Amino acid sequence: MENKIRVLVAKPGLDGHDRGALVIAQALRDEGMEVVYTGLRQTPAQIVSAAIQEDVDCIGLSCLSGAHNELFPEVMRLLREQQADDILVIGGGVIPQEDIPFLEAQGIAKIFTPGASTKAIAAFIREHVKPKRTSWAAPPKKIAHIGIAVHKIEAALPFYCEQLGLSLLGQEEVPGEQVKVAFLEIGETRLELLEPLGPDSPIAAFLAKRGEGIHHIALEVDDLEQRLNTLRANGVQLINETPKAGAHQALIAFLHPKQAHGVLFELCQYRQESREEAADE
Ligand code: ZN
Repeated sequence: MENKIRVLVAKPGLDGHDRGALVIAQALRDEGMEVVYTGLRQTPAQIVSAAIQEDVDCIGLSCLSGAHNELFPEVMRLLREQQADDILVIGGGVIPQEDIPFLEAQGIAKIFTPGASTKAIAAFIREHVKPKRTSWAAPPKKIAHIGIAVHKIEAALPFYCEQLGLSLLGQEEVPGEQVKVAFLEIGETRLELLEPLGPDSPIAAFLAKRGEGIHHIALEVDDLEQRLNTLRANGVQLINETPKAGAHQALIAFLHPKQAHGVLFELCQYRQESREEAADE
């Protein structure tokens, strides 16, 4: 699922006609974008503040009053002042050809004249909106588990159960990963002992290279797929581009340890039932 492009359709200035703006707004919605419409007679300051509040990717300015040469550059100036000039700005309305080079020099990405098709406008927006560097409002919920690579679960369990006194919640084979997993409860999280099921298992490769020890840290998140898309857009290297099935019917994905300062992080998202089932064990 891709993040929807958010567009603010804005009418700066004093003209009282917004039929054209409303047509564009609806057409962009039909193209799958989320559109916020400011209403008539907005000042550049109101438009910029709405764009920032609504966290839009693009502002579409429509002006019929003839004041575009003052209003459009003022929007650009305020965006720069607010460090929001990564927002794509396009313009339209009644704008004479000879004004277009001036407006584009001010940072308006493109001026669409009245004949422009809404398809062409949508295509332009899609092509020119910059991938957002998003910081997630909701941090990971908790450490879901810490994965520990061992040669044989059977041989490691006495230490964890008898010496540390942890209780074994269960064991499960994850054929996709060629790994057998033993879950040990510790507070609200768990330790997971990982034993390779065959020589092609990533755990076998880890053991051969590093020996037994901590293999990965799993963080529980919501919206795994969206988070992967955002991380990718932000240039973070992923091992799994899309979520895959992990133990406990969770969806999981690994990030590349290179950009995580040497730590292999797994992100996992539990479906509601599987989380309850996991808690029941
Ligand atoms: Zn794991």
